Formats: sequence, C-alpha cells, structure tokens
Amino acid sequence: MKDIENRLKQEAKRLLESGDVEVVLAYGRGYDEKHPMPYAAKTVSDVDNIIFDEYCTFNMTRYLTEYPSGTKIAVAVKSCDSRALIVLMQEEKVKREDIVILGIPYRYMIDVKTGKAIDKNTTCDLPNPVLYDILLGDEVPEHSDGSPYDVLKELEEMDNDARWEFWSKEFSKCIRCYACRKACPMCYCDPCFVDQSQPRWADKSPSLESNLMFHLTRFYHLAGRCIDCGECSRACPMDIPLYLFHKKVSKECEEMFDQVSGMSLDDKQVMVDFKMEDSDEILL
Ligand code: SF4
Ligand code: SF4
Repeated sequence: MKDIENRLKQEAKRLLESGDVEVVLAYGRGYDEKHPMPYAAKTVSDVDNIIFDEYCTFNMTRYLTEYPSGTKIAVAVKSCDSRALIVLMQEEKVKREDIVILGIPYRYMIDVKTGKAIDKNTTCDLPNPVLYDILLGDEVPEHSDGSPYDVLKELEEMDNDARWEFWSKEFSKCIRCYACRKACPMCYCDPCFVDQSQPRWADKSPSLESNLMFHLTRFYHLAGRCIDCGECSRACPMDIPLYLFHKKVSKECEEMFDQVSGMSLDDKQVMVDFKMEDSDEILL
C-alpha cells in the first residue's frame, strides 16, 4: 500500500507540475488513520497530503461530475471505480480526453464499520482496474472464490411473502439521509427526482411507503448502470443491505442482456440499446 501511495504522489506531482491536469482526485488524511477522506490536490504542495491505505474505499469518480466540462482531471481508481468511469464516459458526463486514469490494483480493502476485508458479497471484487492510463503497481491475480452474485442465494430462495417482509423491515429503517445517493457515482441528477416539488414525485418524510418509492425508483434508475462498488451500502448509517438489491438487478441485466455494466467503453448500456435477440423477460 505504501508503494502505491508513493507512486500516486509521484504521478500527481508530475501531472500538476506539467499542467497536464488541474486537479488530482485521490485520498487524504481524515480525523484518524482509519477514516481517510476524499481529497482534491490542486497544487504541487497539496500532493504531500495524499495518502493511500486499505481504508481508502471511496469511489472518487463520484466527484468528477462536480467539475465543469473540459476540466483536466487525474483520478485515482480501483477496479469498481474504473467501471464507474466507463459508465460516466458512456453517458458523456466526462470525456476520455479530459481524464488521466491512475489505476490502483489491490488485494483487499477494509470496511471501517466491520473491520473486515471487503469482498464479493458487497462489491464486484475485481482486483485490477478495467481501464487506466497509468497502473500504480503490479496487476494482482483474480480472486477465484465464486461469483459476486452468490450472496443472493438466500434472498432468491425466499418466497414472495418472505422477501416482502425482508425488504419492508430493511426499508422501514431508512431515515432518508441520502448518504447512499451522495456516495454513488451514478447518482448525479440535479435535481434528483425526490427533491422536485413540481411535480412532486415522492414524499420526503421517512415512512415505509415513501422509502419504497425512493429506493425502487433509484434502483430502477441504476439498472444496467450500477457497477457494484458497494459505496451506497458502506455509506448507509442504518446498515441497510442495498447491495443485495443492486446485485439482483445487475444479475438480471447480465442474464437477460449478456452484459456487465462498465466493463467496456465500446458497450452501449442495456437500457439504451436494442438488439433483436434481446430477452423479452423484461416485459413479463
Ligand atoms: S448503486 Fe451503490 S453499488 Fe451501485 S454504483 Fe451506486 S454506490 Fe456503487
Ligand atoms: S443511506 Fe441508508 S438511511 Fe440514508 S437514505 Fe440511503 S438507505 Fe436510507
């Protein structure tokens, strides 16, 4: 991890010094060593504040859409983060020529809430970035312990009543803090549908009905776009397992359209593409 931090600083300094980029999106110190923060280095002297360790779990592509179009940005990305970058490029929210991608290979990251390694149960679990300009370390071998959808087994075995009971219990805990939305690189709509008052799409007060309206609409908006980074679930103060829903939608998209989101710049997203051989199951 220290080697990656050193390479990250070295490349950030070079890119800022040369004027190739105006800002480097990476990680900085937080209030203690287990709580780093997203960090934007804008000057060469800022680079000293950049860090990287196993707690740097944020998906920094979340911040790309905060900058005006045309801003030259270097961004540190891990595997799922690079997939988010691909989706943002497919959606023309960022342009490939404006971004220098600093890829980070890693063996494991740690969820500060659980103290455990983040694995395939809550993320896509790829060890290497899918897209990068500069790789800040040697590629890491792929993990070989099953599918990122294995965690869905229990949920899929429930009957409709049990599943309804499970999600009703989980979503009734939601306090509508929107940390999930704020952490998600794919949630960049301004305003978000839930903040609109004319027309008013959803009640903003927490209740099971309005929470379902918010979450089901958000899940639908993320179909074929979510890249399984798990940031929303890690950000949730109520520990609602949002990853289960996202994984289920991703799995269905993969099975119906034979495509995994954010894996190739050449793909068209499943919800904006049509092929004669597409499954009709979506209509059932
Ligand atoms: S919905 Fe959650 S897992 Fe999917 S891209 Fe957004 S933050 Fe990541
Ligand atoms: S982060 Fe958790 S509590 Fe906050 S709005 Fe999202 S699901 Fe609800």
